[in-house]
Amino acid sequence: MPKLSGQCLCGNIAFSTDTEILRAANCHCADCRGATGAAFATLLTVDEDALTITGTPKAYGHKADSGADMEKLFCPDCGSQMFARNSNRPGTLSIRAGVIEQTDEVKPAFNLFGDSKIASTPLDPDLPLFDRMPG
Ligand SMILES: [Zn+2]
Ligand SMILES: [Zn+2]
Repeated sequence: MPKLSGQCLCGNIAFSTDTEILRAANCHCADCRGATGAAFATLLTVDEDALTITGTPKAYGHKADSGADMEKLFCPDCGSQMFARNSNRPGTLSIRAGVIEQTDEVKPAFNLFGDSKIASTPLDPDLPLFDRMPG
């Protein structure tokens, strides 16, 4: 099982886990773009119980198009986006790929929300592209 660890830009929030990566995807939806300020978000989903977080991230809650309750967790000091929670996937937490030190473990399996992606964002042609969120 891969070990994942990382920290925010200022170092006040850190995490580590030694668990299976349940899901890894690039999300091009407007919420992910807005939250990260990046052209898309790469998220690795893990079992929340397996994740150790030090420091106290601040949470911002909002509703997704699907009706799910979403939460973005970020460092209140430096603003780094660290984690995301989705009420449709209870018990899990997604880690933003940009804060993961083990970059070789960042292997997205698909692209989500192709219908809202920035036209100039390049896509890996070997990965499936879904217009929205599958299943
Ligand atoms: Zn920070
Ligand atoms: Zn998204």
